[in-house]
Amino acid sequence: SVRTRFAPSPTGFLHIGGARTALFCWAYARRHGGQFILRVEDTDLERSTPEAVQAILDGMHWLGLDADEGPFYQTQRFDRYREVIAQMLEAGTAYHCYATPDELDAMREAQRERGEKPRYDGRWRPEPGKTLPNPPAVVKPVVRFRNPRDGVVAWDDLVKGRIEFSNAELDDLVIARGDGTPTYNFCVVVDDLDMRITHVIRGDDHVNNTPRQINILRALGAEVPQYAHLSMILGDDGTKLSKRHGAVSVMQYDEEGYLPDAVVNYLARLGWSHGDEEIFSRAQFVEWFDLDHITPSAAQFNTEKLNWLNAHYIKQADVAYLASEVASRLARRGIDPEAGPELEAVVALYRERSSTLNELTDAVELFCIEAHPAPDVIEKHLTEPARAALNSLAGRFEASAEWNAETVSGAIKATMADHGLKMPQVAIPLRVATLGVPQTPAIDAVLAVLGRERTLARMRRYL
Ligand code: GLU
Repeated sequence: SVRTRFAPSPTGFLHIGGARTALFCWAYARRHGGQFILRVEDTDLERSTPEAVQAILDGMHWLGLDADEGPFYQTQRFDRYREVIAQMLEAGTAYHCYATPDELDAMREAQRERGEKPRYDGRWRPEPGKTLPNPPAVVKPVVRFRNPRDGVVAWDDLVKGRIEFSNAELDDLVIARGDGTPTYNFCVVVDDLDMRITHVIRGDDHVNNTPRQINILRALGAEVPQYAHLSMILGDDGTKLSKRHGAVSVMQYDEEGYLPDAVVNYLARLGWSHGDEEIFSRAQFVEWFDLDHITPSAAQFNTEKLNWLNAHYIKQADVAYLASEVASRLARRGIDPEAGPELEAVVALYRERSSTLNELTDAVELFCIEAHPAPDVIEKHLTEPARAALNSLAGRFEASAEWNAETVSGAIKATMADHGLKMPQVAIPLRVATLGVPQTPAIDAVLAVLGRERTLARMRRYL
């Protein structure tokens, strides 16, 4: 059965590119009823941190990309790597190389002087009939993989098509350092083998590693998985997506008020398509996902499209869910979510017009705390005639038997008639006086939710 893996190096947060790779690995496994494995490639002890591991797990959890197996940690598998290295030395598919760094530098320098491409010259590589030098006692040898000398190593990449490398181009890769620790490409191979990975889906920055990994797998007598190398993601401006583009960490999208479903939908369309479909659920995506419709060219990030999708998901979302998201965002801003009217009612007024949860929270905030509009806004909208109209309107509000959109609307209309004013001449000053802004959804619905007490208290500040 299909087994995919996501294998992040924990050197930072889960970025957008990694999240898309994880999503595709996850979806491919789900699509084929297989397993999705999470493997943390933490062998770079200097750059890997526990915080980064946690950030990656948080990001995956937020996106809803649940692993069937793992997380596995490479740092916990050193015994296994050593075991495979010993087997390869025994089988003659790997060998000890005692060349010192200085010797290797001199070797490369000489090659460069001769106009050759610097590469390991095979001085410690055993060959039939070749006599190797005596191992120097002081040098701790590295272990090198005995890469085939001739022919090509090729694979049919599921995204990029056929890719070939000439073996003559590939060095005898160091698979264990002098201190015995295994190197990156080797760990990947042993893990993909032990975890019985059938489909390696990863970024195309790894294309150059693939021929080496295939050769090592073959030397181990293993079946070679299929490879799908995803093109990179460009920023809005067409350059490689990087920190300069702002939100590149998945969790920053959470912070900025994007819904995980919207981000998943957006990432799904980043370099993959299903006809003209733009909006689809996770389940639909899993049903449709295939590797044939991944574009081999780079995908360009489009913040406007993400915002459009997010607005759609906010519109569709459950009001109770939106209210709880807004409540925690208000609390983080130091605003008591209980200070205003019932959150669900306020959220219902604004969910059609917010493209992020933060925008929605901005709107709800106006109901929880009294706004203090800038002096020029007050001067512009709360003129003498406007205040006179608001004054008689406040009287009607007080006298009204009930408080709902109809009674609010009735009071406004009566005031308009009395003062010979048009709707905006009353509604705009009323909005500024109550919510601090000249534009809101229908004012009768807004004030019905704000409540009579709050409405009157806010109006009176200007009367
Ligand atoms: N650890 C690698 C990375 O973070 C991925 C390796 C792989 O998928 O084979 O880029």
